[in-house]
Amino acid sequence: MSLKYPVHERFYTWQGEGVHLGRAAYFIRLYGCPQACPWCDSAGTWHRDYRPDSVKLMSARELADVVQAESPEGAFVVVTGGEPILFDLAPLVDALHAIGRRVHIETSGIAPLRGDIDWVTLSPKPFGQWPEASVVARADEVKIIVHDVADIQAGLDTLTGLRDDAVIWLHPEWSKARDRDTAVLNAITEAVKANPRLRAGYQMHKLYRADDLDAHSDKRLVPLGGNAELGY
Ligand code: SF4
Repeated sequence: MSLKYPVHERFYTWQGEGVHLGRAAYFIRLYGCPQACPWCDSAGTWHRDYRPDSVKLMSARELADVVQAESPEGAFVVVTGGEPILFDLAPLVDALHAIGRRVHIETSGIAPLRGDIDWVTLSPKPFGQWPEASVVARADEVKIIVHDVADIQAGLDTLTGLRDDAVIWLHPEWSKARDRDTAVLNAITEAVKANPRLRAGYQMHKLYRADDLDAHSDKRLVPLGGNAELGY
């Protein structure tokens, strides 16, 4: 029996952050993550309060077929979560390559990568499980989420072995960006001015809410920036 992936949602939209900002992209969001970030913006993939009645399981072939049907223009595919690195992505990557798609992953890097992935976005979680050295070495870009000023250095501390050409983004955690938290925003500005390796980032898709336009995206109101009363 072929491997099936637990699909939380899928949607055709555009990449809202990082080096590929603004490019059309098809997202596949898988269930499950052990990191439990206090400000998770994808808590629907793991938090008990969003436990679904059933989970849609799809094979690599089935996913490649829907990608082709729902984005026939040929957009690259972003596999995200949750924490997609928990799964053997090799069959999915192969199936997507077979229809001519490039495959990106967004991960906190807590397990070895499986599959010939074309672009790796590493978002380390220094207060949780640190990324494996092999994933740090493979990363094409890094996204450090800055909820507190100290998160900048804590994130950088996880990156031993990062390639010199990998881009490092500092993203204000969404509630801090939304509320224009000057401590966080100004700390990012000062860090970028002090270190040419760093770039200031932003999650543009959260302004557009473009994901919501796709019929297959999760429309439940999972709060962006977390909900302390719910424990994340
Ligand atoms: S690693 Fe990502 S999906 Fe997992 S809890 Fe943190 S923000 Fe959410």
